[in-house]
Amino acid sequence: MLIAMRTAPAQSWTNPAERIMSILNLGLQGVALLRDQMSSEMEDLFSRKNTLEEIRLVAKNNSQLESELRNSIKSIQQFLNRQTERLAIISIDSTLRCDETTQSILQQYSDLQNFIQTHWQIQTYSFQIKKCGNIKCKICNMPRTPQEVFESLDFLPDPTPAAHDSDHYANFSMVYNKPTTDEHQPSKKIAATGTERGPSGLYINTKVREFITCNECSKVRCLFSGRQLTEQDGLEIQHAIEN
Ligand SMILES: [Zn+2]
Ligand SMILES: [Zn+2]
Repeated sequence: MLIAMRTAPAQSWTNPAERIMSILNLGLQGVALLRDQMSSEMEDLFSRKNTLEEIRLVAKNNSQLESELRNSIKSIQQFLNRQTERLAIISIDSTLRCDETTQSILQQYSDLQNFIQTHWQIQTYSFQIKKCGNIKCKICNMPRTPQEVFESLDFLPDPTPAAHDSDHYANFSMVYNKPTTDEHQPSKKIAATGTERGPSGLYINTKVREFITCNECSKVRCLFSGRQLTEQDGLEIQHAIEN
């Protein structure tokens, strides 16, 4: 199962050299590496050199150090090979071409659509994918996690208001394993209420006429007005703020 929340800035995941990193990271999760010991003589020599450059220089004239160093990292290299060889890019629909990326084209691929329906969950800020666990599935292999762990794993729920307190979000345990939608995301709420606050074109920098420091949160707030304030307006605002 993979859960990806809003991705790195500048959309670096679309860069071919960088986007492979998230796949490689899957294979390197929870991995600690330790090279094998060399002979005590070579370990001693090695420990007195601090930079790669110094080590290379010594190894150039000391073939014993070179060969022992090479041997001491062999098991790490084999381990990393095994880890990365297990990573596979799955092919969902072999007729799909790289340049076919628009929604309307992708809608026509029924195998792909079916895969999306049964393995994905996409919300505004998250993308999640999970093996379906169906023996007949031709795309994903059977889960390696124990059956009961796999069955208890569900998609990360969306923030959902608590049943009796709409000012707070419900606890994770209350919404986990239940269907949720992303309609309660803070950004969606702000957008919904924001549209009712005033005419469009008013909340822009050139319409800021005055600044007010909020008593409660100490943040500076802008006062917008469609037209320039008259001297009288200014006095009335000052009066209202002070009281
Ligand atoms: Zn599947
Ligand atoms: Zn405030």
